[in-house]
Amino acid sequence: MKVLSVASELYPLIKTGGLADVAGALPLALVAHAIETKTLIPGYPAVMKAIKKPKKVHQFDNLLGEHVTLLEVKHDGLDILVLDCPALYERSGGPYVDGNARDYPDNWKRFAVLSKAGAEIAAGVLPGFEPDLVHVHDWQGALTPVYMRYAEAPEKPSLMTIHNIAFQGQFFAELFPYLELPPHAYNEALEYYGTLSYLKSGLVTAHAVSTVSPSYAEEILTHEFGMGLEGLIAGRSDNLYGIVNGIDVEVWNPASDDLLASNYSATTLKKRPANKAALVKRFGLDTDDGPLFCVISRLTWQKGLDLLNEIVDEFVESGARLAILGSGDSAIEASLQAAASRHRGRVGMVLGYDEKLSHLMQAGADVILVPSRFEPCGLTQLYALRYGCIPLVARTGGLADTVIDANEAAISAGVATGIQFAPVTADALRRAIRRTIRLYEDQKLWSQMQKQGMKSDVSWDRSAALYADLYQRLVSKGQ
Ligand code: ADP
Repeated sequence: MKVLSVASELYPLIKTGGLADVAGALPLALVAHAIETKTLIPGYPAVMKAIKKPKKVHQFDNLLGEHVTLLEVKHDGLDILVLDCPALYERSGGPYVDGNARDYPDNWKRFAVLSKAGAEIAAGVLPGFEPDLVHVHDWQGALTPVYMRYAEAPEKPSLMTIHNIAFQGQFFAELFPYLELPPHAYNEALEYYGTLSYLKSGLVTAHAVSTVSPSYAEEILTHEFGMGLEGLIAGRSDNLYGIVNGIDVEVWNPASDDLLASNYSATTLKKRPANKAALVKRFGLDTDDGPLFCVISRLTWQKGLDLLNEIVDEFVESGARLAILGSGDSAIEASLQAAASRHRGRVGMVLGYDEKLSHLMQAGADVILVPSRFEPCGLTQLYALRYGCIPLVARTGGLADTVIDANEAAISAGVATGIQFAPVTADALRRAIRRTIRLYEDQKLWSQMQKQGMKSDVSWDRSAALYADLYQRLVSKGQ
């Protein structure tokens, strides 16, 4: 089967979030299912710089008024199609925002062009490549199924994956004529309370919609999580799927990770504490036998990290220590920094993004705290499972789907891998921390949970099989 993937990010070339990981990892994992994927991305400066000897494969003379060259290149095992259009993509900021974190004013066009190019490739403009299915990601790729719906070419099966429904790509309705769609497409697909919503248009036109965990797929049907699109999603519930992301189990392997102080596996857990000692030193924490909790996260309301401030004094009284790595909301940053200065030796903080340190933290901490208010999939808890760091997570989205709570039944069945709590309030978090500390006191049970977590399959293999199966169903239905 041949698949065209349309994405605005692709690991390892350009990444701001989990979408890049999925777009980069899934094609590689699908090879085993005889699925050949080409991924279409914009030619941002970082992409143009990284690719070597791309081949010009097509020239679009007028894509919404732009002259766009289509390049093809192999990179790290991925087959990539790049839209070379400096007028749209050669910008000094990130993929979506300028250096002052402001959206580029022409984002509506930058991603409509990406989507339209996707639809043209689906229709066969690229010699020798007739995709059987088109898989688009988030609002940036969401117009592809719309352009496919209104094109003259026969419509190919399409799947749209929502990585985070909070981002919807909403623009002024006045821009509609510039999208070069027939007038009736406005009401049929794009109109959303008097504006254009790209995500909505993908939701109503893609043959199937998926999100990155089964629980999040259910949650977005509700008012609380649907961000206004719950009604429309309910209308698609027959074709709504949830497939959890995997992680790169080569990069994240405690047995071979050279960023650790000491490598270990589920059978050599005795070697793990050397990492805890290194971590304690790195964060300037006291040395004792108590549990060490960590946070590795964007410090935002979504991640629930404002709650830490409310409980941190009591947390310290319980004898536990906390190492925080993150940055984000300035009020949360300030409150946690204040907690670190108030509780020297008990709470340590590194402000910023540090991929290397995050590996040592997963290997050294006893517990990772993930109190997210919503979490489409989440990656940190998956790394934690693989590294024997017990995840303490909010019972939401992908966190609920990937961590098995240590309740009585799960403990006696030997299947527990972490701790879940709900609702996301300071009180419930406080209780969950107390429960975790009690579990930690039973070191035999604790190491059993660690081993159980380390056995969990967090690789892409299982998820790729589910995507392959879904692709197959969509292609068969389309015939
Ligand atoms: P989200 O994409 O919503 O931020 P995820 O859990 O899906 O949350 O992915 C976050 C990724 O970013 C993980 O790989 C995590 O380890 C990493 N990360 C987040 N904050 C930091 C940080 N301050 N330093 C290093 N890595 C971080």
